[in-house]
Amino acid sequence: MRLPSPTLKNILLLAGTQEARSLAGALAADPGFTVTASLAGVTRAPLPLDVPVRSGGFGGVEGLRRALREMRIDAVVDATHPFAEQMSDHARQACAAEGVALLRLERPAWQPRPGDDWRMARDLSEAARMIPAGAHALLAVGRQELALFAQRRDITCLMRMIEPPAPDAALPPGDILLGRPEADIAAEVALLRHHRIDVIVAKNAGGKASGAKIAAAREMRIPVVMVARPAGGGGEIATVADVEAALAWLRDDHAG
Ligand code: NAP
Repeated sequence: MRLPSPTLKNILLLAGTQEARSLAGALAADPGFTVTASLAGVTRAPLPLDVPVRSGGFGGVEGLRRALREMRIDAVVDATHPFAEQMSDHARQACAAEGVALLRLERPAWQPRPGDDWRMARDLSEAARMIPAGAHALLAVGRQELALFAQRRDITCLMRMIEPPAPDAALPPGDILLGRPEADIAAEVALLRHHRIDVIVAKNAGGKASGAKIAAAREMRIPVVMVARPAGGGGEIATVADVEAALAWLRDDHAG
C-alpha cells in the first residue's frame, strides 16, 4: 500500500466554476496534493471534475468547520462564482475559526470596452427596474433570480439557464431557453439576432465563456444592464485571478 507522503497537502476546493474545473485538473496531476472538490448540488448534471467530488451544502459555517476537521483539510481554495456570496463568506469564517489557510480564486470582472453600452446596476432588483418598457430582454441570470423580474409585465424575456425553473416559479412574460452560454461570439450574435433581443441583463461574472454574449452585444450595439459584483465580506484574504497563480500559492507552502 502506498502511504501518503507526510508533506501531502489536503485541499478542499469549493467549486462550481470553469476555474475550479481547471484547477482540479492541474491538482489531480500533481502528486503533492490530495483534493476533494465540493459542489452545491444544485445542477443535476454538473460538468465532470478530475478529483473526487462531494455534493451539497455543509450546513452553514458550523457544518463547514466540522467538515474541515473531519477531512483534515490543510487549505481551502474558494473557486466559487463571484456571485456565490454566502459560500465565500462561510469559507472565510470557517477557515479563520479553524486556522485553515484560505485562497480565493476569482476571475477578473469584465471591463467596458469601446463600443459597449453598459448600464450599471447595483444588484438584480435594480437591473429588473432598468429594463426599458417594451424591451425583449435576454436574462442571463440564475433560475432562482427570475422572480425579481416577474413584476415586469411590460417586457418580454428570453430566460437562459442550465436547469429549468420550478413549475410554480414566478416568471416574467417570455420563453425559457435551457442550456449553457455559448463560448463562441458568432453563436451568441446568431442567438441575439434570431430572438430579436434588444437588451441583455448580465451579472459581471467575468471569464471568457460567458463573456461571448457581452462581445456579441458590443458587436450588435445592444445595451447591457450589467449587475455589479457583490462587495464581499472584507478581510485580508489571499486572492488570485487565475489557475496558475493558485497553483503557485498552493505549492509555495501556504497550504500547511
Ligand atoms: P451561495 O448563495 O453563495 O451559497 C448558498 C449555499 O449553498 C451555501 O451557504 C452552501 O450551503 C451551499 N453552497 C454553495 N456553493 C457550494 C459549494 N461549492 N459546495 C458546497 N456547498 C455550496 O451560492 P450560489 O450563488 O447559490 O451558488 C451555488 C453554486 O453554483 C456555487 O458552487 C457557485 O460557484 C455556482 N455558481 C453560482 C453562480 C451565481 O451566479 N451565483 C453562477 C454559476 C455557478 P451551506 O450553508 O449548507 O454550506
